[in-house]
This record gives sequence, structure tokens and C-alpha cells, in this order.
Amino acid sequence: MKETVFEMTKRRTDALRTYMQEKKIDVSFICSGPGVRYLSGFAGTPGDASLLITPEKAFIFTDSRYTIQAGEQCPYYELRSAAAWDFSAVKECLPAGNPAVGFENREISYNSFTRMKNTFGFDNFVCLETAVADLRNIKDDWELDNIRIACRIACDSIAETVPYIKDGVRELDLATELEYRMKKNGASGPSFDTIVASGVRGALPHGLASEKTVKNGEMITFDFGSLYNGYCSDMTRTFALGEPDPEMVKIYNIVLEAQLTAIDAYRPGMRGADLDKIARDIIADHGYGKYFGHGLGHGVGLEIHEGVGVGRNSGSVLSERTVFSIEPGIYIENLGGVRIEDLITCLGGVKEILTATSPKALTIL
Ligand code: ZN
Ligand code: ZN
Repeated sequence: MKETVFEMTKRRTDALRTYMQEKKIDVSFICSGPGVRYLSGFAGTPGDASLLITPEKAFIFTDSRYTIQAGEQCPYYELRSAAAWDFSAVKECLPAGNPAVGFENREISYNSFTRMKNTFGFDNFVCLETAVADLRNIKDDWELDNIRIACRIACDSIAETVPYIKDGVRELDLATELEYRMKKNGASGPSFDTIVASGVRGALPHGLASEKTVKNGEMITFDFGSLYNGYCSDMTRTFALGEPDPEMVKIYNIVLEAQLTAIDAYRPGMRGADLDKIARDIIADHGYGKYFGHGLGHGVGLEIHEGVGVGRNSGSVLSERTVFSIEPGIYIENLGGVRIEDLITCLGGVKEILTATSPKALTIL
């Protein structure tokens, strides 16, 4: 039977409690938007709610703009009508004595931390480091379902946008068309600013859509994603408009070979750096090693970049139920670039390419 929101958020909060027990942390203060959302279900603006988790209780602090919403979305959490950063209100919920307080040292500002310390009037804080991110890294069924839907929306929407790729159309107009279609197909919005990079702009790995018009003979890279129930998708496809430069076709096929080989080689439990090397070696063997500057991929979930790294120096382990991207690319100044990206996960030993419905063989429009 499907978990209720109460059961789901209690299970996640209990997982943090287990960690707290191991680390001798009595209570945790959670303030990061994704951390709050993951643990409590609160879907309001990040930074407008915070949580205090004790061994027996769980509190959410949010102001009058969100109290009705938090009451509905966070059944497991006891609502306190106070601003997320009202540390006096948080203090009232602390257990007596001198409890060890876990806090998201990677997320909280220095100013907020100082204020929290001064308001609590003691100095017994423990860094939670990546504790919440590590929990979020292993997706539950509900999260995977949302990411699958976000991916499907993106795949459908790029297919609907391809007919608009014509000589003389601005990159910005193609991005607008794609984002419009993602929304029409059920997304709450794009999961990040859409990248449309055509011709020589393709050499910019993060070339946001510009006023440039696409021209016959150019390749066009779209890197985009949709947001569904707070979860991101992320994918990249590169198309050719008319007959492209032969070197670009060669590059395309090298990137595709690297991408397919990495997908094939992925096994749960593998280290990110080892998977990165598999794709990187293929690109290097073809003589394009210096044109692949970024990592092979990254974790995706409530945030577009989260959790695991899949790069040259990444010690992250790519576990089952981790969702991450595989996105090799080659970028050559004054010529152009190619990147191909899919989201992938593994469940019960079975690999799942979440963006598989979008074709990857070179499409010449
Ligand atoms: Zn991407
Ligand atoms: Zn990506």
C-alpha cells in the first residue's frame, strides 16, 4: 500500500534521527529549502520555513503566509507560527539542559548561525555536514516517480520543439517554445535556465539561450529540464540544422560513443571517478581529451545539482536509487560543441535511463 505523507515524512525524519543518535546529536535545526522539503513535505519558498527535530518531536516554523499550507503539507510536523529564522521561537522547543544541536553547516549563513548561537545562549553545536544530502541521495519510490514524470515531460517537450528549429529563429525563441511546452505538458516550470547554444556558441558548455539566430549548417545544443512536484529533470540533446561541418559530425559520434559506453558500464556501487574515466578515456583516445573540461555528471533530485559527483576526482559512490546524469561533451572554440545527457538510476539491479524516449542518433533537420 502507498505510504501516506505522514508515514513518508516520518520515515525520512526517523532516518535523520538514526544518524543523530549515532553522532550523539540531541536535536537538529534544518533550514535549507531542499532539506526542509524532503523531511517535512513543505513546498513553500525555500528559506521561509525551518525545522527542529528532537528524538520524540518534530516542529516546523513558518509565518502567517504559509501556516495554512504547512498545516496541510506537513502532517507529521507540529506547526509553530513563527518566522523560519525566529530563534527565540525555536529555543522554546529545545529540550532542557545543554542539548547538542545539529545544524546544516553547509547551508546556514554565518550571520544566522551567530544569531542562533547568541539566542540559544550556549555553544554546543554539531555540524550535520552532508547528513541530509546523503539521505536525499537515495530516492524513495515517490521521488523516483516524480523524477520519471519530470523526465517524460522534458522528452515530450523537446520532441514538440524540434519542428521550430529553422534557419533564422532566435535561440531565445526556441528556449521559450520549449519552456512553454514543458509547462503545457504538466511541469511547474523549467528546472534551470534553458541552455540553447548554436553554431560557435556551442563551445560554451553553459551558453544560455541568446539573441543569436540559428543558421543552416549549425549544430544546436539544448540543455534543459522540467520541474515536477519539486523534482528536477536534466537532459541535453544536440541537433544539426542542415548538413553540418564533417568535424562536428565526427565529434558528435565520439560524444555519443562515450555517453553510451558510460551508461553501459555503470554498475551500482561504482565510484563516480571510475565512471567519469570510462567516458573521458574514449574522448581522449580520439584526440579530443582537452576539449572535455567538465565532469561526466552530477546527482539530480530536488536540486538540479545535488549529492553525488561524477567527475575526475569524485569519491562519491553511485548507489542504487541515486539519480545522476551522464553528460560528456566536446567544446572547441570558434567551431562549436556537442553534449549529450541522460538521467539514469538503478533499481533492484536494473538500470533505468529516465530520459530514454528522446532519440540520440544524430538528427539532421
Ligand atoms: Zn543538463
Ligand atoms: Zn546536467
